[in-house]
Amino acid sequence: MECLRQLRRSPLRNRYYLTITLLLMLLGTTGLVAVNAMQHALTMAESTLEEQVEELSPILVLEQRVTRTERALYHYMVSPHPETAAEFMLLAEEVDRAFANLEQAPFAIPEERQAVSLAQREWRQGHLVASNLITATSDLTVLEHLAINELHTRLERMVAALDRMRDVARQEMAQHVVVTERAVSHARLVTAVAMVLGFTLLLVLGVTFFAALSRLGRLNEGVLRLAEGDLSARVEVRSNDEVGQFGHTLNRMAERLQETCTELKRQAKCDGLTGLYNHAEFQRLLRTELERSLRYKHPLSLLMLDVDNFKEINDRFGHQRGDEVLRYLARVLQQQSRPSDHLARYGGEEFVLLLPEIDHAGAMASAERIRRAVVEQSAAVVDGEKILTTVSIGVATFPNHAQSAEELIRRADEAMYLAKHAGRNLCISAGMEL
Ligand code: GH3
Ligand code: MG
Ligand code: MG
Repeated sequence: MECLRQLRRSPLRNRYYLTITLLLMLLGTTGLVAVNAMQHALTMAESTLEEQVEELSPILVLEQRVTRTERALYHYMVSPHPETAAEFMLLAEEVDRAFANLEQAPFAIPEERQAVSLAQREWRQGHLVASNLITATSDLTVLEHLAINELHTRLERMVAALDRMRDVARQEMAQHVVVTERAVSHARLVTAVAMVLGFTLLLVLGVTFFAALSRLGRLNEGVLRLAEGDLSARVEVRSNDEVGQFGHTLNRMAERLQETCTELKRQAKCDGLTGLYNHAEFQRLLRTELERSLRYKHPLSLLMLDVDNFKEINDRFGHQRGDEVLRYLARVLQQQSRPSDHLARYGGEEFVLLLPEIDHAGAMASAERIRRAVVEQSAAVVDGEKILTTVSIGVATFPNHAQSAEELIRRADEAMYLAKHAGRNLCISAGMEL
């Protein structure tokens, strides 16, 4: 089990190599074993047949000759002439030669040799009796009849011994056949097992391969979503192998891209010095809010703020300090605005505050609160050095003072200039007549 777990954790490449190596080794070994087993079975079958033929052919020859010899003896007894006697003697010599051949034959088991010895013994005795008969006289007496009977008995025993030998040889052949059949069935079993194992391994290999492919397919789906611009797309990672690591890398890359994209978007709409919305973003927000106000018939107010005598601050403390004052002011303005308000740096030392849903009275109150906050808080600014700062604010409201975005800005701007002319550090309404 632990082995299997380790294998599952190992890289996919190793798993493929291991599976393929195992498969090749197994199939190769099985193929060799199967071929050897079949070859062995065939060799055994061939050698058995050869042996049997080798063993049985001299016996058959011998039996034929014995029968012919016996027939020649009966022939002699029917017509006892020198010719029939010579024929018997000739055939008897052939039987002797057949026995001599049989002695040379390779007998596998002792019973066969014993049977041959017994047959040979009986033949010698019978041959002796027959020779005595032929050489003794041409008339058959009672004794000679007895001798013929003995000869017949001996020949019968001899044939019986040879038959026994044939039986033994047949049994031996049957045993060889059984062994051959066993070898062949072993070879079949080994081949069948090899086939089953081979197919199982192939199946495992196929399943692993297709599982990897489907995981790659899922990765591809994630990559496609990323490619189509959906940077929130993430791929599902289930393992830590090559595919899993690729998924992790892909997800990390998507996170980085998303972060970079978010940062770029933020930078595109924010002012680098103060972090507030920039001019372009303010214009977009103004149009969006104005559309909404038109649709729902809600008021929309705009505050235009300009730092009073800022040039003097720059001249006196330097531009870097001037920058710090702008940043500080931006924070004060942020603290004074609601989350639904839109605060932007319009340009230079001018800020705008867009107040959705706020009517003109409410906007004037907000402007006054902001003006006072700047006066109160901007006295304790940078590096402990007191830089007194004030702002002049012009306030215009849709639909009271303007019907378009441009007109709203213009009216707020005009009001702000009125505040400058009126002495600065003031809030002036676009509807106010001085
Ligand atoms: P007023 O009360 O009439 O507005 O007087 P002012 O001195 O503020 O007049 P003006 O608007 O003409 O001058 C604005 C100055 O603000 C000019 C410019 O040098 C300075 N300024 C604009 N942008 C920046 C900035 O980003 N940093 C710094 N330090 N100064 C800036
Ligand atoms: Mg200005
Ligand atoms: Mg100014």
